[in-house]
Amino acid sequence: MRIGNGVDVHQLVFGRPLILGGVRLPSDLGLAGHSDADVVCHALMDALLSAARLPDIGELFPDSDPALEGANSLELLARVAGKLGEAGLSVVDCDITLCADAPKIAPHKRAMRENIARTLGVSVECVGLKATTFEGLGFVGEKEGMAAIATCLLDARA
Ligand code: MG
Repeated sequence: MRIGNGVDVHQLVFGRPLILGGVRLPSDLGLAGHSDADVVCHALMDALLSAARLPDIGELFPDSDPALEGANSLELLARVAGKLGEAGLSVVDCDITLCADAPKIAPHKRAMRENIARTLGVSVECVGLKATTFEGLGFVGEKEGMAAIATCLLDARA
């Protein structure tokens, strides 16, 4: 078994869609980034790649690559899943915490988990996702940005 963790942060700005776990949420603010800036998928990809001892997403999907401008992070996650398969690794379980003071995440959690599970080829029960607020404190609480933390377990016995 291999474990990995990943962390990601993106800035909230006007004029960008808010996409989390492949779900577009209603919001005046969206996350800034070269890709769709899906902070949930980015933290998870880094956890998976770290567990697989592969290069991180900054190396695999660099900001300098024009082909990745506006990239759908679920498609990037599918590419990561392909790399795990090539390395003989399978996803056992993963868990993600999204740090966001707004908007309400609860109504969208199931759809995010289903998107991630489908992309990884695992049961939705193998994808944990929760959200927490920062009680108005710091960059999350001031709604200047969002952060996500992910943990995963991979099986290397395939
Ligand atoms: Mg990112």
